[in-house]
Amino acid sequence: MEKTSLEKENSPSNTDFLSLNPSTLEVIGKVENTSPEEIDAVIEKAKKAQKLWAAKPDSERKEVLLQVAEALQSNSKYLAEWITKEQGKPLNGPGANFEMQACVGWTQVPASLDLPEEIVFEDETRKDILYRTPIGVVAAIAPWNWPLMIAIWQIIPSLRMGNAVVIKPSEYTTYCSLEMIKVINRVLPEGILQVVTGRGEVGSYLTGHPEIGKIMFTGSIATGKKVIEASAGNMARLTLECGGNDAGIILPGFDVAKHIENIFWGAFLNMGQTCACLKRLYVHEDDYEKLIEVLSDYSANIPMGNGADENVVLGPVQNKMQYDKIQDLIHDAENTGADFLFKGQKPDLEGYFIPVTLIGNVDNGDRIVDEEQFGPVLPIIKYKTLEEAISKANDSENGLGASVWSDDVDQAQKVAAQMEAGTVWINQHGAIHPFVPFGGAKQSGYGLEFGIEGLKAVTIPKVISIKK
Ligand code: NDP
Repeated sequence: MEKTSLEKENSPSNTDFLSLNPSTLEVIGKVENTSPEEIDAVIEKAKKAQKLWAAKPDSERKEVLLQVAEALQSNSKYLAEWITKEQGKPLNGPGANFEMQACVGWTQVPASLDLPEEIVFEDETRKDILYRTPIGVVAAIAPWNWPLMIAIWQIIPSLRMGNAVVIKPSEYTTYCSLEMIKVINRVLPEGILQVVTGRGEVGSYLTGHPEIGKIMFTGSIATGKKVIEASAGNMARLTLECGGNDAGIILPGFDVAKHIENIFWGAFLNMGQTCACLKRLYVHEDDYEKLIEVLSDYSANIPMGNGADENVVLGPVQNKMQYDKIQDLIHDAENTGADFLFKGQKPDLEGYFIPVTLIGNVDNGDRIVDEEQFGPVLPIIKYKTLEEAISKANDSENGLGASVWSDDVDQAQKVAAQMEAGTVWINQHGAIHPFVPFGGAKQSGYGLEFGIEGLKAVTIPKVISIKK
């Protein structure tokens, strides 16, 4: 296979975007930009297919989606290999095989849930019934960090409720997404799930299209704001998951060693490239040394390398843009006097590898604390009082997740109640579940995914009001 160098890859002057294997920098293929005319045709086809799909009995839609779950299960090994090759996360550990199992689970649950009509009011004069009707054509804009799992979060609830979906995968993870969509489309009726590919402008044209009724977006805050602007034209409903800069607070005296696995993976799941990863960790000054010791010892034993190697559980970061962004934050920390408390082994490979890095002597106001690093670099911040820790944790434009770590769950719940986030986990971080609603506070976005709330979000509530 042809090789590229870090320097040559996908510069703005290079119009042909190349998808690469981030472990080896081998070229997987060129990513075509779907043209505006082609997108128009895709949406026209989706509109027609949606009408037929919505007219089917609910039980039939459920059955078809359960067959999709089976198809994902039986192709999970194949698709996991594609994820590893293009996204970079290892097959093993909480990696590509884990992502595929999540795809199966997040298909089965919405396929099994029901959202029946509801009598919202009734007396001797009237009866009011709330129905949930399909919106029409949903535009799904998926990111590169969990390319298949997040696509499933967007696709399955939308289809379950009788919509059609047009999805644009991230340009970085186009090929693995196309493979999954092929598998799903062997089961679905034609036209209700279609894909367009290419750079951000393709997403921009799609989201601004007058026939789009709903946009499901996961990505950065900056792009989320562009999606909001696009929706001013078509009044599309929005579900925006714009990432976070999640804080964790370890309460004094916590048994860190007992929970170290959860702390480590809370921060370093998918090399930290997870919307709801632990990205800033606050610890009482008396417990600081112990935490560094235990977390460094644990981190030293986690193998990093090419994710296709079955002994590896940490891989590269996904792309050059992200690699440069993390390196920039590391250099800024170096230049402003941070302590580098631990640095893991970097494999001797050409890809975008950044070793697990623990950074101390930093505080709110430093870029590595204030900005979402989205990488395997964790700032650890000492605090003196709990009030100070809560105030610093909340001092962010983001509010996706947060965590509190304590052996005293009652006290942890009191702290959790004061944290500004859509979800606060206790003694775990990022532990999402297909039955449990998930969404952000502040600039982390709005709209809920998962469970019944997630189904509601891809419908239009319609009341039929009967006079008695
Ligand atoms: P973006 O927000 O740019 O990308 C997310 C998705 O939006 C991609 O499919 C992208 O396409 C698409 N897109 C880009 N521009 C537009 C537009 N104008 N209209 C509609 N869709 C568009 O994220 P980046 O890849 O640039 O990553 C930047 C940062 O975002 C990361 O460093 C991280 O902090 C955060 N991020 C958060 C994620 C999360 O899970 N919440 C996931 C990914 C990133 P394309 O990739 O083809 O440009």
